[in-house]
Amino acid sequence: MGDRWEGGCSCGEVRYRLTSDPLFTHCCHCLNCQRQTGSAFVVNLLVEGDRLELLTGEPTAVDVPRDDGSAQRIFRCPTCQVALFSEYGRREVKFVRAGTLDDPAQASPDVHIFTKSKRDWVTLPDSVPAFEIYYDRHELWPADSLKRLDAVFSPSR
Ligand SMILES: [Zn+2]
Ligand SMILES: [Zn+2]
Repeated sequence: MGDRWEGGCSCGEVRYRLTSDPLFTHCCHCLNCQRQTGSAFVVNLLVEGDRLELLTGEPTAVDVPRDDGSAQRIFRCPTCQVALFSEYGRREVKFVRAGTLDDPAQASPDVHIFTKSKRDWVTLPDSVPAFEIYYDRHELWPADSLKRLDAVFSPSR
């Protein structure tokens, strides 16, 4: 097993590594995520695109329609089709699916979002913030993560 933030698809063709800790970790209970995963929620590690290093393989981008009319670009292994990460609108931040880590126990949600469509049988801990829809990152993210995000979005050249 590689380092903490290394992962890949089921057939082993696509392997990736986060070169930093994630900016923040979402657990999303929205209906789009439920449909895409066939599960009750998804756990996403948010990280800058240039800190998601592909070690092997070349994921295929698939644009998946969302209920609000937008598209979500999901990157899949071209062979086994496992979804590894996605983009919500902006390309600069990737949402890496925590279940594809070699050791998914490394990830735990910093926030639960879209709890308005959370399944009743999913019980959330009191210790993690939860929101009916979304939240203000300035209130939740660590200062260092906010700084990193600013660096991504502020054109320095
Ligand atoms: Zn694969
Ligand atoms: Zn969602």
